[in-house]
Amino acid sequence: MFYEGNKLKEVFLKAKKERFGIIASNVVFDSQIRGIVQGYESQRSDGLLQMSSGAVKYAAGDTKNMKVGAQVISSLVKTISSQYNNSGVGLHIDHATPNYLDFIIYCVENNLVSSVMIDASKEDFEENIRISSEVVKVAHKHNVLVEGEIGYIKGTEDEIVSDTELYTQPDEALEYVKKTNVDLFAASVGTNHGVTKGAKVSLKLDLIKKIDQLLINNNVERGIVLHGASGLTAKQQTDAIKNGVVKINKDTRYQMEFAEATQAYWEKEKDAVVRPSNITEDEYTKDKSRFDPRKWIIHSEKAMQEAVENLVKISGSVGKSITLK
Ligand SMILES: [Zn+2]
Repeated sequence: MFYEGNKLKEVFLKAKKERFGIIASNVVFDSQIRGIVQGYESQRSDGLLQMSSGAVKYAAGDTKNMKVGAQVISSLVKTISSQYNNSGVGLHIDHATPNYLDFIIYCVENNLVSSVMIDASKEDFEENIRISSEVVKVAHKHNVLVEGEIGYIKGTEDEIVSDTELYTQPDEALEYVKKTNVDLFAASVGTNHGVTKGAKVSLKLDLIKKIDQLLINNNVERGIVLHGASGLTAKQQTDAIKNGVVKINKDTRYQMEFAEATQAYWEKEKDAVVRPSNITEDEYTKDKSRFDPRKWIIHSEKAMQEAVENLVKISGSVGKSITLK
């Protein structure tokens, strides 16, 4: 089923209390959404689908109209997820920078999403607080959750490129959460965007724990979000969850699995569209039963499903859906 903000909040509260993680999966088109929603359902796990600014532009086609793109993705997610009762998903806007403020407000006011991320982390601290608070005010009025961020996260975040590495300071995290009242909080704790080998990532577990404890001690406990988690090992992820992380973002991992499944199919079935050199043109016909897009995209779709099934096993959310009493 589809979760509005209040239900999604329940999901994160349960995850925080029981110390498991919710996998947030970046999506653009229907095959990804189907595969991933089916994967959450088969594991009785709640989840979150998220769309970046680049994704909504793509979804609209050559107009790149973000409002249209968000409507496309939102209706796909809502309609597909409505078929299932043993799990639920919310829809989230990933990394919306202040220049997309109008877009965020549009999605919130038109009930397209369950949660939004305002990423004003490139602004100075006071300005970040001001912009994030503004988004929280509008979003909460419409039953939409808000994720905020301070500090940079190394790597490429869709349209944001950062090569500096700034760790989140616990005191700043506390001040930011208190002043903005965001529901979730993206901490810069040493992860990279894109796939890197786990060994290269210096994930600061002690920093996650410090931030979590400080928020708890000040009665503003929040779920911490881990961005750029595609390159982390399973152990790094479970350790992060134990220390206070509730939302783990996955984007690159899915892109890779989708590409690999497509490549594997065409490596095997190439002669469906390309004449082998040992066959004459007269003898050769292209094989519709193998080049029909449904015949090959389904393999990539199933790869999405398998990927999320594996991810929720690691994050511990299997069988934890709030739909199951
Ligand atoms: Zn991110």
